[in-house]
Amino acid sequence: MQDIRWKALWLGLATVFICLIIWAATDAMTALAVFAAAILLYLISHLFWLHKLLQWFKKPDLNSMPIGAGIWEDVFAAIYYEKRRHSRSQAQISSALDRFRHAASALPDGVVLLNGNDQIEWCNPTAEHQLGLSMKQDAGQPISYLVRPVDFIQYLHRQDYSEPIKLKSWRNAGATLEIQLVPFGANQKLLLSRDISQVEKLETMRRDFIANVSHEMRTPLTVVGGFIETLMDMEGAVPESTRSYFSMMQEQTNRMRRLIEDLLTLSQLENSPEAPQESEIDLSALLNMLLHEGNSLSQNQHHITLDPVEPGLFIKGAPEELHSALGNLVSNAVRYTPKGESISLKLLLRGTNVIFSVCDTGIGIEQQHIDRLTERFYRVDRSRSRETGGTGLGLSIVKHILTRHQGHLEIESEAGKGSIFSAVLPQSRLIRKTVASVDSLP
Ligand code: ADP
Repeated sequence: MQDIRWKALWLGLATVFICLIIWAATDAMTALAVFAAAILLYLISHLFWLHKLLQWFKKPDLNSMPIGAGIWEDVFAAIYYEKRRHSRSQAQISSALDRFRHAASALPDGVVLLNGNDQIEWCNPTAEHQLGLSMKQDAGQPISYLVRPVDFIQYLHRQDYSEPIKLKSWRNAGATLEIQLVPFGANQKLLLSRDISQVEKLETMRRDFIANVSHEMRTPLTVVGGFIETLMDMEGAVPESTRSYFSMMQEQTNRMRRLIEDLLTLSQLENSPEAPQESEIDLSALLNMLLHEGNSLSQNQHHITLDPVEPGLFIKGAPEELHSALGNLVSNAVRYTPKGESISLKLLLRGTNVIFSVCDTGIGIEQQHIDRLTERFYRVDRSRSRETGGTGLGLSIVKHILTRHQGHLEIESEAGKGSIFSAVLPQSRLIRKTVASVDSLP
């Protein structure tokens, strides 16, 4: 294709040259008339091709594209080339989109595409089946009109989608769905749903099994423990030579009892995920009780302090559960801190949280263990845990209790220097009462 500027120049020069010849052969007027006629013709031809182009744009079909003449041939060729390239890339994009849709349709998990207003843009057949959607009828509808469980609506508005939520299926009794929102692009979201009924069933079986075994073992252990104790107390019943065996048996039965009690506590916590029976707990009284329990466990061998707690502070929660969780942190501090060292208990109000922290100058924990401490039976030093009467389940129970109160456990520690275990609860659970109203409490 020649540059159209050259074409226009050659045409102009040729017209001028012909007019000059006409001028030489005839006169100037005739040459001027021919020049004017040539320019008029040139203008008409441009208008003609421009009209053709506008006509074609109304129905831009590649097969009906005019061929053009002169410089218009180049213009039409350029448009033809560009249009063909565009159609080809459009075909590639739509085939990629089709492939994506086919792949997403074949997914065993449900996928729903939500726009910035949480309206459904697209969903795959699994999502239609699991969530009761219909792509034909529900496209453009807000997801909150169609997926109605309160937990889901709260999750949608929470803006924190780092963890998925579990929902009992409202379409299929006994089924459980795991739903996660994944933000992407400009305010859009991907909703992923997965049927986890089988996993949940296995988990329930596991929990029931542990609860049943623990429950069944409780009675025989109590009987065995009781007999050992009676025999030890009866004068002459246990010969002096075997007395040490009996006290070992007593120690081990006590250990097993503690283990079973902790296992039962854990399975009770796991089997009733709903919020516990809550009441208002006086924080000053609770913390003083923990201080007292800590001192009696330590037999006053540690220097345990409690920072003064502002009077009139109450926390909403399950009294037994919170007492057991915070007591566990105190008892761990006593068990893992050498005699003579100090332990301090503090209540802090920081940001949106109420924090109860237990700070000790004990043996501390190496960093690599910290993330795993709340796993069941995870101990840094098995023999030390056993020596001090540990079951390896304490922090697991603490974590469960705090989670049930929308809180969490924070651990800071340095081996050889000590640890800070903090039970963090939301300040929405804190109640401040004026001292007068506290005094008038029953
Ligand atoms: P255990 O019954 O073994 O104490 P826990 O679940 O209460 O079980 O604690 C898990 C592990 O965390 C313990 O075995 C111990 O290694 C470590 N740990 C807990 N509290 C402390 C602490 N205050 N200082 C040092 N290590 C601790």
